[in-house]
Amino acid sequence: MSDANTHRVLILGSGPAGLTAALYAARANLSPMVVEGSQPGGQLTITTDVENYPGFPDGILGPEMMEVFKKQATRFGTRYLYGDVTAADLSARPFRLTVDGREQRAETLIIATGATAKLLGLPSEKTLMGYGVSACATCDGFFFKEKDVVVVGGGDTAMEEANFLTKYATRVRVLHRRDQLRASKIMQDRARRNPKIEFVWNVMVREILGDPQNCGITGVVVEDTRTHERRTLETQGLFVAIGHEPNTKLFAGQLEMDERGYIVTRPRTTETSLPGVFACGDVQDPSYRQAVTAAGTGCMAAIDAERFLEAQHG
Ligand code: NDP
Repeated sequence: MSDANTHRVLILGSGPAGLTAALYAARANLSPMVVEGSQPGGQLTITTDVENYPGFPDGILGPEMMEVFKKQATRFGTRYLYGDVTAADLSARPFRLTVDGREQRAETLIIATGATAKLLGLPSEKTLMGYGVSACATCDGFFFKEKDVVVVGGGDTAMEEANFLTKYATRVRVLHRRDQLRASKIMQDRARRNPKIEFVWNVMVREILGDPQNCGITGVVVEDTRTHERRTLETQGLFVAIGHEPNTKLFAGQLEMDERGYIVTRPRTTETSLPGVFACGDVQDPSYRQAVTAAGTGCMAAIDAERFLEAQHG
């Protein structure tokens, strides 16, 4: 198998998992091809400071870190395809994937497609997305200078977004559906200490008020989870920070997944239910979801793919 569209290792995704897999596969002379996806660099490109990646004692900006990862993977011969995978047929090897309308074939496939922010599922959220509603404070926070905003969620993402937004907004209210945060203690403490952050407990957002053609959002209707009473909170921005879902739709019915859609890997490996298909990073990790764990499993996936190819070809 040696035509230009057949690859020994095809890697889907270019976040820390995908690019680390590429680095290792490239150094093993496997000329990996990386499909960069619709968000090259992955979720880190929409964050600001990364302070917890070992080796960067002063922190580094997320997008900068992904540039460094890419540079290192490229140095050893990684190749890149721009665009998204629109179809995947894993029924036989080589696996067949459609990227930007072209078929690519893969002897081994490393899935590192990551996860995407979850949304509330309200019709008004859809119509006002980009007009006052956002799922990414680091992308859109700048537009809320001197404004009042709310953040929905009670986990680390919500705390991080709330803290970040206080750089711009006059007040940030965190709307949480319970009266206890899920976030880690350090993130909670940071948010609680921030004088611009307030908490509104036991509420669910039921409706977002506003008009995309006219000034964006004006408020949110929240329902008290205990009394079911509804009230309106006036605000000019709503940030959804309620977790993520894995990007695995393409592989539904072809690979074993858990009830939330995360790809299941065999313990202590990156092997999926199909020989020759490996998964690394957030797409198979509902619990750690860190850049460093994604990179670690990316390394494992490349080594697993290399061993698989060796076993096939001797
Ligand atoms: P989590 O799943 O931890 O938290 C999601 C939050 O959103 C929960 O508080 C949940 O409420 C709430 N929620 C979920 N669905 C809804 C809904 N439909 N309506 C209203 N509220 C809802 O996700 P995160 O993205 O916050 O974090 C995921 C992982 O990433 C964690 O392991 C976290 O530690 C890590 N992380 C670490 C960071 C860091 O260390 N700098 C930064 C960001 C994330 P409830 O609590 O009631 O379930």
